[in-house]
Amino acid sequence: MKLDKESLKGKLVFLGTAGARYVAFGFERQAGGLYFGFPSVNVHVDPGPGAFVHAHRKGIEPHWTDVVILSHRHLDHCADVNHVLESMTLGGKRKRGLLLCPSDCITVDPVVLEYTRKNIEKTEIIKEGAERELSTDLTVSFPLKHIHGVETYGVVFRWKGTVYSYVSDTKFFDALIEAYRGSDLLILNTTLLKPNPKIDHLSAEDSERIIAEVKPKLAVLTHFGRTMLSAKPWEVALSISERTGVKVIAAYDNMILDLETLSVVRQR
Ligand SMILES: [Zn+2]
Repeated sequence: MKLDKESLKGKLVFLGTAGARYVAFGFERQAGGLYFGFPSVNVHVDPGPGAFVHAHRKGIEPHWTDVVILSHRHLDHCADVNHVLESMTLGGKRKRGLLLCPSDCITVDPVVLEYTRKNIEKTEIIKEGAERELSTDLTVSFPLKHIHGVETYGVVFRWKGTVYSYVSDTKFFDALIEAYRGSDLLILNTTLLKPNPKIDHLSAEDSERIIAEVKPKLAVLTHFGRTMLSAKPWEVALSISERTGVKVIAAYDNMILDLETLSVVRQR
């Protein structure tokens, strides 16, 4: 199913489901991030490598984007940020758009060029606990700094009484549960099958713990590394679902979710 400006409204598109280096840069899955088509504002979260092209192929023109959010500076989350910002301003012709990112995305060895930042309307630095309005019916907040080597935040949208949370890359720690409590939709970057103390990513077991406590209406696993892909993410999701009683699904590339019904839109 190809989207257009109208059918994008009220949809969330998974432009990528690849996690970490091997799967993202080995091209085993796409890594284009999450595209939220809120009716008032289009938000592109974590435009990793290929985001620009994957969006276009799905019928989403990158210049429709109003807000770009980077959860952190790892390249599988931001490799295409400059393309997306450049497109948003039509190559600097229209000064518009907002970038929200941690400070280390634009300071030392910046992943967002000074050149592209000059062309957009505003860059705001994400801090733990920050919240801001994106439109009259939509807010975004960053409840918690994650543990992931570089400065990393999860993202929470509140739109028409519904809470949409994106738990970006992180090692498991208890505060995650409180930070994302109350979520209706809980998207979890579940990179590992089993916990590995040396790697700062959630495993399927960690995600299950969070899901069991938070009890969202729908949990979506994404950002898969190799161990998750070999274990068939949809089977892992089903078993978590059976144990927790929460509806859990595994995202696939270009999956579309209806933001009002929290159901997967059937692809033609
Ligand atoms: Zn990362």
